Amino acid sequence: MTRRKLGTTDLEISILGFGASPFGNVFGDADPAEAIRAVHQAIDEEINFFDVSPYYGLTLAETRLGEALEGRRHNICLSTKCGRYGDRDFDFSAHRIRQGLEESLTRLRTDYVDLLFAHDVEFGSPEQIVEETLPAMRKLQEEGKVRYVGISGYPPGFLIRIAQAIPVDAILNYCHYNLLVNDMDHQLTPFAKERGIGLINASPLHMGILTEQGGPAWHPAPGGVRNAVRRVAELCRARGANLSDIALRFCFDHPDAATTLVGMSATQEVSRNVTAVDGGPPPEILKEIDAILSPVHNIIWISGRPENNLPA
Ligand code: NAD
Repeated sequence: MTRRKLGTTDLEISILGFGASPFGNVFGDADPAEAIRAVHQAIDEEINFFDVSPYYGLTLAETRLGEALEGRRHNICLSTKCGRYGDRDFDFSAHRIRQGLEESLTRLRTDYVDLLFAHDVEFGSPEQIVEETLPAMRKLQEEGKVRYVGISGYPPGFLIRIAQAIPVDAILNYCHYNLLVNDMDHQLTPFAKERGIGLINASPLHMGILTEQGGPAWHPAPGGVRNAVRRVAELCRARGANLSDIALRFCFDHPDAATTLVGMSATQEVSRNVTAVDGGPPPEILKEIDAILSPVHNIIWISGRPENNLPA
């Protein structure tokens, strides 16, 4: 499994990262024993980057991941988040950041995390994130509870705005670089590269849409996007190819994202996705896919405070 350096940190992480949000039943009920087997298999396959949050399944995902990592934690790079604790439960205050991390460490059965992200910062005020949240996270870093700090969220422009105002070690952006969208590259990718900030590309399957089974009912993408992707799935089937393999392959080829973070909770998904790391798709099918998806390319939605969705 190829590893890449995360920005200027000393973390070397696998280009296929393990997203544990499905452990919180975000995409339907996960089988807890199978989820644990998936983590063990992933480690055997040399995946060394695992990402979670107290928000996923309202602490369930962290609890399950902590159980799975018992005895294996020190061989991997573990990332969790702070500031988001429910659909509408946000608290980016210094007090809650500290308390939230302590609770996460208990659930994860460890005394430090490699990365701590302020989760979905576009739901907060930029003043608080810059003046209170990130300084509180840096204090935790000084105390050795956190190795590096970062910000995560949806609108790339807001992530840039925050990182221009206060240094961060890593940025996690989701649903902005995959077969359906590429606007992470408009400004965020060159910005992160220039500053030596580690860039993590999350949701390469556009939160489950770019798969045979399609995405969850709560998915914010409009019907036109889903319909176009169904046509792509049919095309892939007709060519003997698999949509998720091609979607992942496309993201692994991004030269500047240190890792592509995929949500998984089953051994079958781990096997399939590890294989996708090495299998390049025939370029002809990418051209055909592009022709079908171009009318719905770069359709995005508002996340968090409307004013935090403006371009950088
Ligand atoms: P994703 O695009 O990775 O899709 C996940 C869905 O695809 C799940 O239902 C999973 O079971 C399914 N899947 C995975 N491999 C498959 C395969 N081979 N065939 C068919 N289906 C497959 O979306 P995601 O999980 O939202 O994103 C990945 C990870 O990135 C998350 O788990 C989380 O760790 C992180 N993330 C963070 C943020 C944030 O910080 N704001 C936001 C989104 C994602």
